[in-house]
Amino acid sequence: MYADIIVDISHEQLDKTFQYAVPDRLLQEVDIGVMVYIPFGRGNKLITGYIIEFSDAPKIAVEKIKEIDSVVSGKIQAVGKMIQLAAWLKKHYGSTMNQALKTVIPVKETVRHKEKKYLQLLAAGQELEEALAYLKKRNATAQVRLLEALQEETVLDCEMIRNKLNITMQTVHALTDKKLAKLIIEQEYRNPIAQDKREAKQIVLNQRQQQIVDSFTKDYLAGIRRTYLLHGVTGSGKTICYMEMIEQVVAQGRQVIFLIPEIALTYQTVSRFYHRFGNRVSILHSRMSKGERYDQFLRAMRGEIDIMIGPRSALFTPFSNIGLIVIDEEHENAYKSEQSPRYHAKEVAQYLAKDNQASVILGSATPSVEDYYRARNGEYDLYELPDRAMGNALPTVYTEDLREELKQGNRSILSRKLQELMTDRLAKKEQIMLFLNKRGYAGFISCRSCGAVMKCPHCDISLTAHRNGKLICHYCGYERPQMKLCPKCGSRYISGFRAGTQQVEEIVHKMYPQARILRMDMDTTSGKDGHEKILSAFANHEADILIGTQMIVKGHDFPSVTLVGILAADMSLYAGDYTAPERTFQLLTQAAGRAGRAQRPGEVVIQTYTPEHYSIQTAARQNYQEFYEEEIAYRALMDYPPYKAMLKIQFSSKKPDKLEEMAERFVQEEQQFQNEQIQLFAPINAGVYKINDIYTKIVYAKSESAEKLEILKSRIEEWMQQHRYYANIMLQFDIDE
Ligand code: ADP
Ligand code: ZN
Ligand code: ZN
Repeated sequence: MYADIIVDISHEQLDKTFQYAVPDRLLQEVDIGVMVYIPFGRGNKLITGYIIEFSDAPKIAVEKIKEIDSVVSGKIQAVGKMIQLAAWLKKHYGSTMNQALKTVIPVKETVRHKEKKYLQLLAAGQELEEALAYLKKRNATAQVRLLEALQEETVLDCEMIRNKLNITMQTVHALTDKKLAKLIIEQEYRNPIAQDKREAKQIVLNQRQQQIVDSFTKDYLAGIRRTYLLHGVTGSGKTICYMEMIEQVVAQGRQVIFLIPEIALTYQTVSRFYHRFGNRVSILHSRMSKGERYDQFLRAMRGEIDIMIGPRSALFTPFSNIGLIVIDEEHENAYKSEQSPRYHAKEVAQYLAKDNQASVILGSATPSVEDYYRARNGEYDLYELPDRAMGNALPTVYTEDLREELKQGNRSILSRKLQELMTDRLAKKEQIMLFLNKRGYAGFISCRSCGAVMKCPHCDISLTAHRNGKLICHYCGYERPQMKLCPKCGSRYISGFRAGTQQVEEIVHKMYPQARILRMDMDTTSGKDGHEKILSAFANHEADILIGTQMIVKGHDFPSVTLVGILAADMSLYAGDYTAPERTFQLLTQAAGRAGRAQRPGEVVIQTYTPEHYSIQTAARQNYQEFYEEEIAYRALMDYPPYKAMLKIQFSSKKPDKLEEMAERFVQEEQQFQNEQIQLFAPINAGVYKINDIYTKIVYAKSESAEKLEILKSRIEEWMQQHRYYANIMLQFDIDE
């Protein structure tokens, strides 16, 4: 047996491995992640290295291969654990060991300790009130917002001011010039907010919250480790519950990873954690340099922090004794990596929890159907918070039938109800968000008269229009020519729904020439800080209407928004995959949640061609349970997850002929394994077949058992190894997609 050993565990050196023979006497002791002594170089000096992989075959002439000398210590160290995690990622998600190692091991880069700037409030009492009144009169909205934030929190991180409050440094200087606040400049990466640890506002948990925290604590102290699903409507106090539970775990000397999608990483959340846990908490986010991130990992390794908050990569924090992993907004797509290994944070969290005897808490207002199913079946414990903690009402939702609008002669993209409410809000100087649901833009075909959508007769999935004039099912490959008339009602108004944000902007501008409009999409946000400038301008009420795609839905709080219009709710319903109804429900619920966050109640208009669809009806009623019941019945009927496991296999290549041949051949040869209850569909072209001259084919597989699909996965990898002719075809797997 041979072992691949790595001697320098830094990101840049991860692909430099050396092969050593494992002597029989060490067979019992070696394992992936174990640290060993090896004779190295000409002088055979003994150095240490980590075993990252085993193999049967020598890579160089056998007589040149040296033997491992000895094992350093039987106990796996933090780095060893990371290597084991990488090995698991590799196996589970089908990547190379190198890709997996690079995922879990941070880039070492010494931090040039940048200056960190903080803003501290100077004014107080009478003076502060007067300043606020004066600025309000002058309509200096940004300065008012900043002062109000400082009232809450007397020291603010300038980075946070820019990125999370969307306030520019110019505004900061406006306050310092007036001597209302002063800048503090720190060389070290510290956190003076924590130093300012004033007593945070004491919140007494309500009865329901207390029950949840007590139940969790009781389990934890009794040594019970579980996965809990916390289902609570927005504003029900999930964050407070997390913090209480985290405190219990930290009190046991264990560490906590708190995952949150980057976009939802709001300034409020972060500062609440700082207040509670002071310097024992640290944050990762994508704006940090590699060096800063490395610094945070070092602090974790040295035991200087107990809690790491961050997006999915925070899972790879080298804590020695993880006791709890919390995943907030657990239904979010952002928890899945888009790069190989295409890991899902929830699965990695489960692996880590098992490895460290930790518990996992998943939280959401709209939990993923799979997880809610597991909670209902007792695999997870279910905690529910059905009411908003502050007692403010959920917004009023109107569902507008666009077929009816057409009948009444309204061909505009804005329904009459939405127009009426927009006029009202503009008069009241309140803000409006118009959300264009662009998921599934690839082009489903529907009838504008009767709302019928062209679907696959086998899969109940919307057919997608391709340039060659054919309609294709992305699951089974079924295809048919594009129809001219609606098969249901005979109408000629049958087409793909196509309207971009830019068109919407033009139309709205024509209808409301006096309104100030901002648009946020890929085009307008491409420049540096483009994204923030728009949000900041909108937050400062420099515009009345914000038009945008998915981007505007998540994580931003605009207190003066009292109307949200969802222009084409159906778009994501027909995205061409089985999760479409679920994604639609989540998006609509979130979009609706943008209206009326503060004192003023909000209204929401959902425009749709299919008002009868359960995703739309239940989202309009903001009733998750009802949605779940419908959805789970549909999944059962169609054999979709969680009832059966699915595997999406993607083959990509620059050579379409070879790709075609390979995919066909693979499926044919695989047919012999059909008795293992794996249902393998014929290869189809990816939604976008060619990107950057790379063609992609997809094969779907479905099975009763996820393990069967795992076996299939390794068999494909083996098969690709055996057929070297296909060596430059890339493979990619997605589970349950
Ligand atoms: P979620 O995370 O579920 O959206 P939050 O934890 O952010 O909810 O709570 C929403 C708001 O309600 C916050 O302003 C919080 O301070 C407040 N809140 C939550 N629980 C209580 C409580 N028991 N008493 C008073 N205010 C509460
Ligand atoms: Zn029709
Ligand atoms: Zn089909």
